[in-house]
Amino acid sequence: MPATVGHIIGLLEDRYPPALAEDWDAVGLVCGDPNATISRVLFAVDPVRDVVDEALVLQADLIVTHHPLLLRGVHSVAPVTHKGTVLHTLITHGIALYCAHTNADHASPGVSDALADVLGIGDVVPLVPSAHDPRVGTGRVGRLDETLTLEAFVDRVAERLPVTHHGVRVSGDLERLVETVAVCGGSGDAFLDVAAQVADVYVTSDLRHHRAQDHLVDGGCSLIDVAHWASEWPWLPVAAGALQHDVQVLGTTVEVHVSTIVTDPWTLHRGSPS
Ligand SMILES: [Zn+2]
Repeated sequence: MPATVGHIIGLLEDRYPPALAEDWDAVGLVCGDPNATISRVLFAVDPVRDVVDEALVLQADLIVTHHPLLLRGVHSVAPVTHKGTVLHTLITHGIALYCAHTNADHASPGVSDALADVLGIGDVVPLVPSAHDPRVGTGRVGRLDETLTLEAFVDRVAERLPVTHHGVRVSGDLERLVETVAVCGGSGDAFLDVAAQVADVYVTSDLRHHRAQDHLVDGGCSLIDVAHWASEWPWLPVAAGALQHDVQVLGTTVEVHVSTIVTDPWTLHRGSPS
C-alpha cells in the first residue's frame, strides 16, 4: 500500500495532536493533496526557500516543518514575496507542506523533550503543565545525568547543539554547580518566572534584555541563551525516527530525511574587541 500525504498526517497527528496547539497558532496541512502518494519526507525547522530547494534535490513529496509558513493573515500568495515564492514552488512541484508547531511543543514527547535528551537531562516533566493534562505542556525540567559546573554544562550545550553563528551565551556564576535544568525549545522568556522557581539553570532562546535583567536582579537561576533554530532542531531526528517507525507499523514505507541546513537568521557573530 503506497503511503499518502493523508496517511502521514494521520501518523503525525497521533503523536502531535492539533488540539494541543495554542489558539493563535496555525498548524496542519498548508498545501498538497491529502490523497497524493508520497515516497520521501523532509523534516526541517523553517519553511524557507533553502529548505524547499533541498526538497527539490531530494525529490521529497512532503516537507514537515516546525514553524508555520502562514501564521498571520495574508491577502496574496503571488510569487512576489518569499512566502508566495515558497508556496508557488511547492505547488508547482507537487510538494506538500505540513506544520507541527505548538502542538509539537506541548506533546509528550515533544520539542523540549528532544532538547532535554540531547543535553543529558532525564526524568523530565513539563515546565508549564497544561491545565487539561499535566503530562503535556510547555518546556521541560529535569535532572542532569551528572552534577556539573555551569561552565562545564555550557560547554556541553555548545558541543551537543548544532553549530550556529549565534553560539551560546550564559549568565551566572560559572563555578556554581548545576543539577536541575529547565529547557524550552524556541522563545522561552515568558517562562522565566517558572524556571526561576524550579531550576538551577534555564536553557532557551530569544531572551529579551529587560526580561532577562529583571529575572537576574530578582535572584533568578542562571541562563543559557542559544539560537532559536538550534534549540528546536534536535526534535527533527526524533520526529523523523518516530514517523519511520509508525510508517512501518502501518505496513508501508517512506524515505525520511532531516534537513541540516542552518536556517538561523544570524550569519556572523563577532565578539567585541578586548
Ligand atoms: Zn520556534
